[in-house]
Amino acid sequence: MSGQDRAVLGILGGGQLARMLALAAAPLGVRCVVVDGAADACAGQVAALTVAAWDDKPALAAFASTVDVATFDFENVPAQTAHRLAEQLPVFPNPSALAVAQDRLTEKTLFRECGLATPEFVPVDTREELQRALAITGVPAILKTRRLGYDGKGQFRLHSLADADAAWMALGAQASAHGLILEAFVPFERELSVLAVRGRDGEFRTWPLTRNWHTDGVLSLSLAPAPDIDALQPRATALAKTLAERLDYVGVFALELFVKDGQLLGNEMAPRVHNSGHWTIEGSHTSQFENHVRAVLGLPLGDTGARGLSVMFNWIGELPAKEPLLRAVDGHWHDYGKEARPGRKVGHATLCAPDATTLADRVAAVAQALGRQEQARPLLDLLS
Ligand code: AMP
Repeated sequence: MSGQDRAVLGILGGGQLARMLALAAAPLGVRCVVVDGAADACAGQVAALTVAAWDDKPALAAFASTVDVATFDFENVPAQTAHRLAEQLPVFPNPSALAVAQDRLTEKTLFRECGLATPEFVPVDTREELQRALAITGVPAILKTRRLGYDGKGQFRLHSLADADAAWMALGAQASAHGLILEAFVPFERELSVLAVRGRDGEFRTWPLTRNWHTDGVLSLSLAPAPDIDALQPRATALAKTLAERLDYVGVFALELFVKDGQLLGNEMAPRVHNSGHWTIEGSHTSQFENHVRAVLGLPLGDTGARGLSVMFNWIGELPAKEPLLRAVDGHWHDYGKEARPGRKVGHATLCAPDATTLADRVAAVAQALGRQEQARPLLDLLS
């Protein structure tokens, strides 16, 4: 590509991830076209939007004819749609890698094959199988849909064997369509994620491990680089590289990890840019969004090093007042342009600082001004 070449990138899914991809693509001279089933998809505010269902073959063929490369902001695009598109143009990550990551069973099986331990898991298709699976995992345990679950959706936590009927009532109806998996509940010490990127030429990089806190299964807070990761970072990077090479993966992905007894366990892989990597926009030399665009277009990858320390607050349901963030030193506001709705990711904010003490001061001040002390508490406890 010469400096004058201006590629068009197609993105399947038009949520906030597509929106931030389009914003990162623009300075590279890359224009984005987004496909989504919703006419008000928030990426449509910053990129051209095609409104189409995943099975709308003529609309998707027309979309494919206007773009150079296609990628995803959403991993649950049907594998058939991705494969059909890949017959027309380069699609990254490749549809087979997407298919593996769409299914918690194939994903966890791959983790083990690559040397990454996982929580004990058993596939479940019937009520009887749930009973047998519980004998293997013990309780507490989590019953999850194999497909289409995210952010804690499609999950039921079993605290005792007596919860089995309630779990089946909640998810049994989805067993035939999506399959279920029962996982042992891991009393982890902390949750980390490693964001990784692999280029079309196989070049591979990771960002520093991120520490994450979830509320009701949804990411609430991230800190990067996570403290005390010297012993874990090389292993996480090596595992991510093995996975990426096994899948011939191109683009950014996130590997969500639990730390238990100092060891890494694989929870899930997101075959796309990821919420726990939003801090990279301001906190890293190259953001996950820019590096994803670079990777899928075959451009050189950028430096994934951190500039200092960063904290990301997720705004779920509604946005708080933005002024305290705008006034904060190295504070950054991201409004996704969505309508407020309970449980919906509507924005995030990032605070950066050169050291932990300064970061703790900035986080404490902003959290108090926003009345978000509870959300900030795990971080402030850690940094104090
Ligand atoms: P998931 O959608 O599978 O990433 O689950 C969302 C969140 O639920 C995770 O980030 C964890 O905080 C929690 N979780 C999921 N699976 C387990 C597990 N097997 N043991 C403990 N916590 C879990």
